[in-house]
Amino acid sequence: LDDRDGKIWLDGQMVDWRDAKIHVLTHTLHYGCGAFEGVRAYETAAGTAVFRLQDHTQRLLNSAKILRMKVPFSAEELNAAQKEVVRANGLKSCYLRPLVWIGSEKLGVSPKGNRIHAMVAAWSWGAYLGEDGMKKGIRVRTSSYARHHVNITMTQAKTVSNYTNSILANMEATDDGYDEAVLLDSSGFVSEGSGENLFVVKDGTVYTPDLSAGALNGITRNTVLHICEDLGLKVVQKRITRDECYIADEMFFSGTAAEVTPIREYDRIQIGAGQRGPVTEKIQGAFFDIVNGRNAKYAHWLAQV
Ligand code: PMP
Repeated sequence: LDDRDGKIWLDGQMVDWRDAKIHVLTHTLHYGCGAFEGVRAYETAAGTAVFRLQDHTQRLLNSAKILRMKVPFSAEELNAAQKEVVRANGLKSCYLRPLVWIGSEKLGVSPKGNRIHAMVAAWSWGAYLGEDGMKKGIRVRTSSYARHHVNITMTQAKTVSNYTNSILANMEATDDGYDEAVLLDSSGFVSEGSGENLFVVKDGTVYTPDLSAGALNGITRNTVLHICEDLGLKVVQKRITRDECYIADEMFFSGTAAEVTPIREYDRIQIGAGQRGPVTEKIQGAFFDIVNGRNAKYAHWLAQV
């Protein structure tokens, strides 16, 4: 991903893609204190638009606040940077990666006094869990790794170091031939995927773990909650057990990268009819209508670049 043409926004400047480099003594590289976002831009009839740009930027700044990092850029500057990166790379639809991190002035555990940096890159990225998975559903397994406990790391911050847990869970699941992991919280209740929130449909009601299970407060999760309300679907946020999932009619993941991805099998148990369910398909359709600018009600979620 590093040896290619293009532009990356780095600390307020647009730099050539190959020159967007940091020093090996970068504090965040050693101790993992940094925060990032995953954002997507989509093609709409009015041109390319970043989906829920303000919400992603606010979550980035909230993550930094939780980590006691003072980001030297305002929300407005970070929003402008993201739009600029999409334009500069001539992308019609893409994934964006903003990141804030601590510099290399010194390397004790305490980062006090080190400079805070920021960058934004963007590139084309199709269906995160595969085009086939989007239509037919994916296969997932319960991870042997628990999701972070809410008082061990900060689960509402999208921090760099939180993702070691996600990487372990994802590698375990994919090494075992599954598409993705489902992490339980430290009490054994279902929490989320390695990079996705989880939903369950049973008897026409949509369930999702409440955030006390340590799942990230996903922006796509929130979008799905709006869609459910529009579709007249009842939503319940509560503690969910594995066996409630096993006997569900449908399951699906939500996430910026994963969008709305159906789950057809969980721990080798077929979910519902073993394919994308009708409720999931409706929600998925509504999601793509919104992000592609076909639903005027949510035009305010689209930031034209
Ligand atoms: N949980 C985790 C652990 C994630 O990494 C993500 C992706 N950001 C999500 C949930 C989904 O969040 P969002 O819909 O905001 O992308």
